[in-house]
Amino acid sequence: MANSGQKVVLITGCSSGIGLRIAVTLAKDEKKRYHVIATMRDLKKKDKLVEAAGDAYGKTLILLPLDVCSDESVKQCINNIKDRHIDILINNAGVGLLGPVESISIEEMKRVFETNFFGVVRMIKEVMPDMKKRRSGHILVMSSVMGLQGVVFNDVYTASKFAMEGFCESMAVQLMKFNIRLSMIEPGPVHTEFETKMMEDVAKMEYPGVDAETVRYFKDVYLPSSIDIFEAMGQTPDDIAKCTKKVIE
Ligand code: NDP
Repeated sequence: MANSGQKVVLITGCSSGIGLRIAVTLAKDEKKRYHVIATMRDLKKKDKLVEAAGDAYGKTLILLPLDVCSDESVKQCINNIKDRHIDILINNAGVGLLGPVESISIEEMKRVFETNFFGVVRMIKEVMPDMKKRRSGHILVMSSVMGLQGVVFNDVYTASKFAMEGFCESMAVQLMKFNIRLSMIEPGPVHTEFETKMMEDVAKMEYPGVDAETVRYFKDVYLPSSIDIFEAMGQTPDDIAKCTKKVIE
């Protein structure tokens, strides 16, 4: 349970990457200012986080299951928190999707929106009433540079982040009246499992119905250059965790 004076921070998607490092960075805060509720949809994946948290695990960091795509899971998670009191919500969970639109089914596209857009909406709807009652709170959303600018072959991922940016920009105005802050972080490339998973998906990808010119452009031009960009500009999850800590301080 949080000590008085500690801020209760709930983070989504802490099994790997950026979410894991934000959880550990806040839980290891030198002044112990945060009580971190690190959530993940499958608690069997907790080992990496528990190991990285070290002594903080069970003290300034606890774990709860949470699937942002499920109304029931979101409600259950928030109901498990004392007085449903969350000071800072960090919407980090997200999935990527890369490739020519013709090779991606509508079902796969909906899965991206279900996580990256409705996942955030679901969380905000659930925590907002309590934050409004207390007239305080901070909601942070992990967007992307692709929430600001379209990027070839990332059409659906880009659209999901644009949708989220639009939703949050509108919400921010309403929430401001209740002294609730809404912030977005828009990272460029970051070396995480996100990149690995996308590359694995691409390796399995087939291209029925996609014209040869697009397939050639995707495989021979886009992919090698995007790998170069990741190599040249990629940040670490720790860089983003430090930035997140600055934003909430
Ligand atoms: P990872 O793939 O390492 O982490 C994504 C996290 O989201 C995992 O913990 C994953 O859990 C979780 N997740 C996915 N679906 C759900 C769900 N339905 N419910 C709860 N958790 C879920 O990627 P990153 O750390 O890189 O990504 C984190 C955020 O940063 C994302 O929102 C992404 O869009 C954003 N971002 C990433 C960039 C990058 O280059 N890596 C650049 C800009 C933004 P599980 O293990 O169960 O799949």
